[in-house]
Amino acid sequence: MEYPGNLFVVAAPSGAGKSSLVKALRELDTGVNPSVSHTTRAPRGQEKHGREYFFVSPAEFEAMAHADAFLEWANVHGHRYGTSKRAVEERIASGTDVILEIDFQGALQVRRAFANAVLIFILPPSWEELRSRLERRGEDAPEVIELRLRNAAQEMSQTHQFDYVIINELFERALFDLKAIVHAQRLRYSAQRRARADTFAALNIP
Ligand code: GDP
Ligand code: ADP
Ligand code: 5GP
Repeated sequence: MEYPGNLFVVAAPSGAGKSSLVKALRELDTGVNPSVSHTTRAPRGQEKHGREYFFVSPAEFEAMAHADAFLEWANVHGHRYGTSKRAVEERIASGTDVILEIDFQGALQVRRAFANAVLIFILPPSWEELRSRLERRGEDAPEVIELRLRNAAQEMSQTHQFDYVIINELFERALFDLKAIVHAQRLRYSAQRRARADTFAALNIP
């Protein structure tokens, strides 16, 4: 089933800059809507229930998974994270573009559910830079940073499964690349046929 809205899925090893890039994209383009995931991890500093995540107990998460409420879910760095099926489907069915910031296991599950999903992987420019961004962000304890770095190698080995790769070295350059991917998707034949039906008609294009 092809929906009129685009589904963009952004994955990256922790610290590569995924949240910063998606946040900056959304400030420039209000047409891309985030989906708020459910997680069993505890809120960090300024995070608010319903804004960054819906913070739920393992039992609540389990109940949602059992009720088939997730489009995808995965265990990431020792916690569970999942994307609500209904929230995503309703929006892309109504023609709204949705962007998911999820881990690579979830991204691959989304591709199985929506063959037209656009999978984007963000890489850091180097291991040294990845470590220093995690340290500079200052949100995670040292042992959590070590765990995230250990997991990064396995995550990055899945890069070939994605449609697009952005190397986040210079932030503004990486943001330009992300905008280009979103823009190109909106110029695809099927999207233009829908969005510019009047022009197609005026030009007598069947
Ligand atoms: P959070 O949304 O509070 O988790 O914040 P992030 O850690 O994701 O990012 C903090 C802010 O820094 C965001 O507003 C980003 O857009 C911005 N930012 C991050 N890296 C860079 C950079 O290299 N250059 C510029 N210009 N802005 C950046
Ligand atoms: P992720 O969501 O992938 O875990 P974040 O967006 O939180 O990563 O970025 C990790 C840290 O790196 C943040 O402190 C962010 O401000 C910083 N950062 C992101 N992109 C760049 C960049 N191109 N250059 C330098 N620092 C960056
Ligand atoms: P963080 O705890 O730093 O916010 O996120 C940790 C990891 O979980 C990141 O790789 C992030 O993309 C992933 N993640 C966040 N929400 C979801 C989700 O709904 N599903 C999946 N599969 N991963 C998620």
